[in-house]
Amino acid sequence: MIVDEQLIHVTPELKKEPTQLYSSRYTLEILNVINSLVGEKGAAALLRAAGLLDALPPKLNNKHENTIPYIYLANLFRTLDIIYGSRGARSIAYQAGKLSFEPAFGKLKIITETKAKLENQFRGAEKLETALCTLAEISAQSSDQHITLADYTDHFRFTVGNCPICSVPLQNELPVCYFTVGFIRGGLQNLLGVNDYPVQETECIASGDPACVFTIRKKRFTTTEVGSGLTGFLTLPEHLHE
Ligand SMILES: [Zn+2]
Repeated sequence: MIVDEQLIHVTPELKKEPTQLYSSRYTLEILNVINSLVGEKGAAALLRAAGLLDALPPKLNNKHENTIPYIYLANLFRTLDIIYGSRGARSIAYQAGKLSFEPAFGKLKIITETKAKLENQFRGAEKLETALCTLAEISAQSSDQHITLADYTDHFRFTVGNCPICSVPLQNELPVCYFTVGFIRGGLQNLLGVNDYPVQETECIASGDPACVFTIRKKRFTTTEVGSGLTGFLTLPEHLHE
């Protein structure tokens, strides 16, 4: 039994049936990053195969208004898998999550306010907690996700209810939300100026779990981990795989 959990941040739960919408601006920035990763032709082929060329509005709204159905994103990530294979798709999804953070959210007031708060905090774990609370708020505001953030002795757990990537039923033995791992690492990089906290998805709706759970270790990558190439987005010490 876990005894050291301490809830630190919970975003409001949706009272009615989830509408399941995603921010238009965020979708636009995700597509921009995918475009830069796979090229214009590759991106067009991806959108066509995902059925999004006709489904998406010709010009996506540049504002953070939640108007894009979850299913569009779920289809996009599924199609990445079909076209690029699971390894290629993981990497593209992770990069899309990481690199879209700054263009999508970098200028929001909550980012400026969080950075000001972080300047007066000095303990690593305290700064990490502040940054993760902000990421929870951004996730909740830019979509219909419900985030619970909990503090454990040596890590934080970032639990995503109503995950957009898993909104299409899918049976997969392995966690699939590499995009969200990228979002968390890109967000921490933006807020803390470093991207060296191990983040991994340890439970996933796609593999039958009730929610998608991301574990963020409080201890940064050690020099040994860095030296042995263990800083990728799939690596996290075994003892954190609860
Ligand atoms: Zn998941």
